[in-house]
Amino acid sequence: MTTEIEDLRHRVAAFLSDHDPAASDPLEFLRARYDAGLAWVHFPVEHGGLGLPLALQAEADRLFAEAGGPDNQAYLNEIGLGMAAPTILAFGTDEQKDRFFRPLWTGEEIWCQLFSEPGAGSDLAAIATRAVRDGDGWVVNGQKVWTSMAQIARWAILVARTNPDVPKHQGLTYFLCDMTDPGVDVRPLRQITGEAEFNEVFLTDVRIPDSHRLGAEGAGWRVANATLNNERVALGGGADARETGTVGEVARTWRAHPERRTHELHDRLLRLWVEAEVARVTGRRTRQKLAVGRPGPEAAAAKLVSARLNQQLSGLELELLAEDGLRYPDWTQTEYDDAGYRYLRAKGNSIEGGTSEILRNVVSERVLGLPAEPRFDKDLPWKELQR
Ligand SMILES: Cc1cc2nc3c(=O)[nH]c(=O)nc-3n(C[C@H](O)[C@H](O)[C@H](O)COP(=O)(O)OP(=O)(O)OC[C@H]3O[C@@H](n4cnc5c(N)ncnc54)[C@H](O)[C@@H]3O)c2cc1C
Repeated sequence: MTTEIEDLRHRVAAFLSDHDPAASDPLEFLRARYDAGLAWVHFPVEHGGLGLPLALQAEADRLFAEAGGPDNQAYLNEIGLGMAAPTILAFGTDEQKDRFFRPLWTGEEIWCQLFSEPGAGSDLAAIATRAVRDGDGWVVNGQKVWTSMAQIARWAILVARTNPDVPKHQGLTYFLCDMTDPGVDVRPLRQITGEAEFNEVFLTDVRIPDSHRLGAEGAGWRVANATLNNERVALGGGADARETGTVGEVARTWRAHPERRTHELHDRLLRLWVEAEVARVTGRRTRQKLAVGRPGPEAAAAKLVSARLNQQLSGLELELLAEDGLRYPDWTQTEYDDAGYRYLRAKGNSIEGGTSEILRNVVSERVLGLPAEPRFDKDLPWKELQR
């Protein structure tokens, strides 16, 4: 590891001496960083990486941040970076990796996730969107919902039913869908915050080439599970630095407003601060486990805790700010950096990426080994299910 760190530092220094962040176009800088294998250092050589241990990614990111290197829009491309990329890495062909990784990493192409449907959210395996073989491709029809970032996404990860005659988990196939193709219709949904971050997506006779299938026909559930485990790490994996995220906002508010302090608020702040610290350290351990394999069901626990904490912390922040916390810049909430926004947006944390009820089921069954929920429909052909 020591030699690998030294080698990495040497490569970053050499790259920075050829590409001065202050004098480079940000996009050209990011493309060059990808081409030098310094994007995802744990990815294979030729695919943005150097084949190094995942643990060294943080070191690469730190060195680039310290040098003032541009970031690659991590927020807007959360689904691309956190979910699509690791799934394509695990199941994609070399052609798919060549086509998709570079513009995904640089943020030139944003990704969204076409999984949930009006009748299939928690029970994702029940989805009804159909993909039917047609020559060297597929024709897709159906409706998706709650699709974050579909309004700006160029590509989507999509799960569709390719065989209605087998039980629901077996007849699914995973595709990479071009959001600019004819037949893809994106309609915004207004949220509690006032913004429209997610959408309904209607798919009408959308043609997807077979070369954009990810994994084998009928293996969509296994591929989707890899995405969902990565999603929970992305959503609940937490930050490395102490007092980042909502806990940092609350701590700063506490320090800035001595006149609003009470013993009761002090107790709550301390309790939540300690829990946030435990979650941060656990998140770091989860990411370290990723370095030696794929994320396991423990990621569900991290996501569960981070959703609850974020809701409690953002509530405490509003209480500390009293009436000041209720002042929003405008009803559409286009300013994302205030306590009111954080409080309202946190409501979705216990729904997005799997609800807290479902994650508790995952933890009890797959981590604690408790008896499984009865599943009467798991052997029935999908077309015979009551919907
Ligand atoms: C902000 C936000 C962003 C999202 N972004 C995306 C996205 O980009 N792409 C995407 O595909 N989806 C996205 N979603 C959808 C999200 O994944 C689903 O909303 C979620 O999986 C729940 O599904 P549902 O809404 O159909 O609720 P349902 O499955 O109908 O559940 C309703 C309630 O019943 C409970 N419940 C259901 N089954 C059980 C059970 N077996 N045991 C105990 N309780 C149960 C649930 O926990 C929940 O409380 C997003 C959601 C939100 C809020």
